[in-house]
Amino acid sequence: MIAYEPLMVAMPLAKWLGEFVVKERRIPTGDEVREFFKSVGFEEVFLDKGMAVHRNRFILAITLPKKNTLVIDLLSSSGELSDALEVIAYHDKQIEGYIIDIIPANELEFEGNVGLEPAIIDDKNFELKSTPVLGYFEEEKEEISLVIDEEAYNLWKKSGKLEICPICGAEGLVWKESFAYCPSCGFGIRIRGEKK
Ligand SMILES: [Zn+2]
Repeated sequence: MIAYEPLMVAMPLAKWLGEFVVKERRIPTGDEVREFFKSVGFEEVFLDKGMAVHRNRFILAITLPKKNTLVIDLLSSSGELSDALEVIAYHDKQIEGYIIDIIPANELEFEGNVGLEPAIIDDKNFELKSTPVLGYFEEEKEEISLVIDEEAYNLWKKSGKLEICPICGAEGLVWKESFAYCPSCGFGIRIRGEKK
């Protein structure tokens, strides 16, 4: 996994959070989120009452656990706010589910939205009620792709939105066998285990 910009952490983080909620039937604590950042090679630079700051060379991540809500702000270490993202996880009583969403900190400048839709997990049977397409990023021969697993691909296919980019939300993905390219954001999308 590579993490050069907030987006490249937000998508795997949202996936991790969704899997955590399904497995543990609750929102993780700030301490548990530290495990995620450790696993993706981030350095821990600050800890205080559940709040944590992690960083790698390119990104600063601030974890702010609140009552019933977990907020993780992802900023470029350059200080630019235009590509900053917030990943939030909370329980929604009306929807009767747990929501995990990626929100651009700067909605005016950020083009499109991130991900096809938020992850919504039913609070009774803990099954996924939406079709988020989440994965991690890899770089290969100067090409950066979102790598998704077969499960994510099957959900995406079921949603009937295979022509919409799960990264920027633009239409017009170009598919070549199991590889898709988005002319809008320039990222590729690859299904794990499949060759290009
Ligand atoms: Zn795109």
